[in-house]
Amino acid sequence: MKNTQILIFTDLDGSLLSHNNFEFREIKNFILNCIKNGIKIIPNTSKTKSEIEVFLDQLGQNLPFVVENGAAIHNLDLVHRKFKFKNNSLIFSRSVNEILELFEKRIPIELKKRCSFLKDMSSIEQMKILGLNKKYLPFALNREYSMPLVFDGSKELVNKFTVLLKKIGMKLHEGGRIYNICDDCSKGKAMTTLIEKLKNDFNFKSHTIVIGDSPNDISMLNVSDQPCVIPLPNRNNLCHLKDQNIIRATQSAPQGWEEVVRASLKKINFELEG
Ligand SMILES: [Mg+2]
Repeated sequence: MKNTQILIFTDLDGSLLSHNNFEFREIKNFILNCIKNGIKIIPNTSKTKSEIEVFLDQLGQNLPFVVENGAAIHNLDLVHRKFKFKNNSLIFSRSVNEILELFEKRIPIELKKRCSFLKDMSSIEQMKILGLNKKYLPFALNREYSMPLVFDGSKELVNKFTVLLKKIGMKLHEGGRIYNICDDCSKGKAMTTLIEKLKNDFNFKSHTIVIGDSPNDISMLNVSDQPCVIPLPNRNNLCHLKDQNIIRATQSAPQGWEEVVRASLKKINFELEG
C-alpha cells in the first residue's frame, strides 16, 4: 500500500452520526487520529452544504465533501493541493428551481398528490420527520440541488415514480428518513469522477473505503475497493447486498464506523499510529 492514498468516502447520518441523535462524540478522537495518519476522509451525504459545515465545525477540521447525493464536491484543494477549480468546487446538478419546474410539468397528478414536500410543511412536522431540533432545521432545509419529500404509497408506486423521474433525467433517492428528488447524480458518480480526475491529472493511486447504511449509498459502495455497511438500530438495512468483500459492523453509528474503519485498515495492513 506504499504510495497509495487511503480515501474514506463516508455517509454521515446513520453511518458516522448516530441515527437517533446525530452524535459522534465517542469516535471524534478516532476520526482525528485517522486524519493525523494521512487518511483523507470525505463526507459523501444527502446533507446540504450548511449542514456539513456544522459537522466540520463540531469536528474542528476542514475536509473535502460531497453534498446532496452527489450534486457537488467542495473543498477540492483538500483532496489534492494542485486541484484548481472555480470556487474550489465541481457541480454536477441543475438547481433546485429547475428540478421543481420539471417535476411540476412532467409528473402526472396522481403521483404528485402522493408527494408531500418538506418545504411545504410546518416546522413542527419538518422537525419530526427529520429528527432535528429548531437550531439545525434551517441548515437541513437550505437545499440547492434536491427536494426532500414524504411519499404516501406502496413500493410499486415508488417504483413507478422512480421510472417516471428517470425518463425526465431525474432520480429518486431513498435515505434513512425521507426520499429526495435530485438531478441525475449519485454519490457513486461524484466519487468516481473525483477518483478519475486524481488518476488522470496527477497519476494518483488511491484505496477507497466506503461507509454507508441506506439505499442511496449503494452507488458508492459498488465502486469502492472496500465497501462497509453500518446497521440501523431500528430495522434491517442493505441486507440484500451480497458482495463477499463487504465489512458489516456489529454496532450501529457512531461506534460501528470506527469498527469498520479499523477492520478495513487491518485488511490492508495499515497501522494507525497514536
Ligand atoms: Mg445514511
